[in-house]
Parts: sequence; C-alpha cells; structure tokens
Amino acid sequence: MNKPLIATTSLAGCFGCHMSIMDLDDRILQLIELIEFNKSPINDIKTLSKECDIGIIEGGCANSDNIRLLKEFRKNCRVLIAVGECAIMGGLPAMRNNSASISECLQEAYIDCVSVQANDEGLIPNDEELPMLLDQVYPCHEIVKIDYFIPGCAPRADLIWDVLTALISGKKMELSYECFKFD
Ligand code: SF4
Repeated sequence: MNKPLIATTSLAGCFGCHMSIMDLDDRILQLIELIEFNKSPINDIKTLSKECDIGIIEGGCANSDNIRLLKEFRKNCRVLIAVGECAIMGGLPAMRNNSASISECLQEAYIDCVSVQANDEGLIPNDEELPMLLDQVYPCHEIVKIDYFIPGCAPRADLIWDVLTALISGKKMELSYECFKFD
C-alpha cells in the first residue's frame, strides 16, 4: 500500500515549527514508516513533484513568493494544515503591519534600527530577483482555504505527532486546553 505523501514548507517563519517536527526525535523513524515526505526542508527536496495527501505550512505570507508557494500547496495538497502562530495569525513578522508604509518599515529595518551595525551607505535591498513585499503580512487562511490549524509557537512535537497520526489513521482528535495555554 502506498504511504500518505506529506509536503512541508516555511513561508514567513523562522523554521522553529520545523524544528518542532524534528523534536519528534526517534518518533521521526516511526513517522517515516507511516508516511513519505515530498518537498520539505526536512529532506531538502526543493519541489513538489506529486500530488500530496497532507501539506504543512509554517509562516504567514509577507511577500509575493510566499503567496505563490501557498497557492501551489493548496492546489497540490488534499489537506492543508497551518502550523504555528505565524501561519495562523501572521505572528512576529506581522508586527510590521503596524508600520504606516513598507518604505517606513524598510527604513527602520535596514537603516534606523539600533541593531543595524554595518550599513554606512544606507542601502535598502532592491534587487529585482527579490520577491515583492506585500502591503502587510497575511495569515494563510486569508489567502487560501486551510483545513486544520495547529496552534503554538512553536507547537509542541507531541501535538504535531497527535495531529499527523490522527489524520493518517482517520481517527478524531480533540485539542486539549494545554494546546492553547502559553505560560
Ligand atoms: Fe517560528 Fe513561532 Fe512562527 Fe513557528 S510560530 S515560525 S516557531 S515564530
């Protein structure tokens, strides 16, 4: 029997949610008995080569490439899961939504911020190869339909395990109170 195919990607995220998948530790070995990974930073496969059963999205949409990739996942994944606060609500990158404009945001990030240490010429990246920044950072469900949300920053590995194994086995699962409590 063919194993379910899973693809994962990071949009405007920090890869912490993927680190949580790696925190499955030795259960990763059990997981690859149950599923096969397609495109994912976990196996370094760069492109979606087949229709997948489950797509896992970390991060929200901050630029045009994030939108393209999210739509590609929606088109090619039967079930799409937003993992972590950045994918669900925009997360830390969405702090820039409070800036009046993209130019103000870039000015702060590359020139004015106290942590900028080596930009004497006051350069702001503008290579045409760079994806266009969006007017604000969008959670994934505002761009495409999302089937499931796994909360947390990052979600606990146990929770990711429970969701994936429930989906693969077709069993129902309930999110416990601890999944939403971050103190
Ligand atoms: Fe990183 Fe947290 Fe965002 Fe996941 S939800 S990408 S861990 S900041």
